[in-house]
Amino acid sequence: MTGDGTRAVRAGLPEPVAHEPALPGPVFAAHFHLPGEATGPYTYGRDTNPTWTRLEAAIGELESPDEPAHTVAFASGMAAITAVLFSQLRTGDAVVLPGDGYQLLPAVGARLESYGIEVRTPRPSSGHRPSTGASHTPLDAALDSQLGILDGARLLWIETPSNPGLDVYDIRRLADAAHARGALVAVDNTLATPLGQRPLDLGADFSVASGTKALTGHGDVLLGYATTRDATLADDVRLWRKTVGAIPGPMESWLAHRSLATLALRVRQQAEGAMALATALAGRPEVTGLRHPGLPSDPSHALAVRQMRPGRFGCVVSFVLPDKAYAERFLAALTLVDDATSFGGVRSTAERRGRWGGDDVPEGFVRFSVGVEEPEDLVADALRALDAAKA
Ligand SMILES: *Cc1c(COP(=O)(O)O)cnc(C)c1O
Repeated sequence: MTGDGTRAVRAGLPEPVAHEPALPGPVFAAHFHLPGEATGPYTYGRDTNPTWTRLEAAIGELESPDEPAHTVAFASGMAAITAVLFSQLRTGDAVVLPGDGYQLLPAVGARLESYGIEVRTPRPSSGHRPSTGASHTPLDAALDSQLGILDGARLLWIETPSNPGLDVYDIRRLADAAHARGALVAVDNTLATPLGQRPLDLGADFSVASGTKALTGHGDVLLGYATTRDATLADDVRLWRKTVGAIPGPMESWLAHRSLATLALRVRQQAEGAMALATALAGRPEVTGLRHPGLPSDPSHALAVRQMRPGRFGCVVSFVLPDKAYAERFLAALTLVDDATSFGGVRSTAERRGRWGGDDVPEGFVRFSVGVEEPEDLVADALRALDAAKA
């Protein structure tokens, strides 16, 4: 029994070698010495790189500590997501994509449709309005009454907790339903990170994530990965990476690996700050539709407690302010929080999500990503900014 934090510190490191560094530096190579036959672990830089090998071993250990798994690293989260979808789906197949997932998923769906793949999206349950609190019915319940959508499907895509709406889907139950119908299951694990949730242990075939967010945590790297326990699926995804060339840079891969050693510290601190912020916001009348899976009053809390790791409900808090101008005044009045997109970084960020136009959210919807600042400082800054926004 090794704790996650302990595992993360050494994940993917080579056996100690006298007078060598613990984590060898990035290997910058387009090609490798290759006498004779074109075989061996390292041949050409679009196929393999030792810096990727170490990072992939590390992520595999975190996503699947108890069973061997294969991880394939990519240039970005989108590169990983599209690798799974495009390597598995063929003309005539059907795929189930969520309606409340990452904002680029509809564009991916449209592309899949243009190749003759049927894209199905579950309808939100009646009464469901994104992030509006009291009237909220978890989409999971809606999907429950629509499991027929999986009939004949080749793959089910789940994003949980979803971004930016923070709905939680029951991975185990949906994976069982999908597998009973012969469909593969992929889970976008970006928000939770492998320390917050382990989709493969809950029955998923793929755990896929953007490493750009909380995994690397410093807002200076774009990266993605897909992890699976199935060697054939891993080969498919690896061949896709080589074919389209969506490879991570050695420098990014090394920075990502270096960041994993502090993942447990960051996840813990950010989750604590997010809980403190959500708890403080819950007492404010101008805040509606407050969502954070760790809040006992959250519609997804009971499910989050069952499938996520204790106390690691992520760093994102979302809520709605009365209107666009109100939200903009709030964001401008924050002093410790950057108005910026993305999430999961060590420095807190917040943004009015409606400015991108891709998410189905009210104009006053704010996605707040809690960094590693002291929770009491962040709470004070947010409450002061709310007061300033009233004017
Ligand atoms: C950011 C994000 C992605 C895309 O990742 P990139 O690294 O920006 O390509 C995919 N899924 C979720 C949930 C995300 O937050």
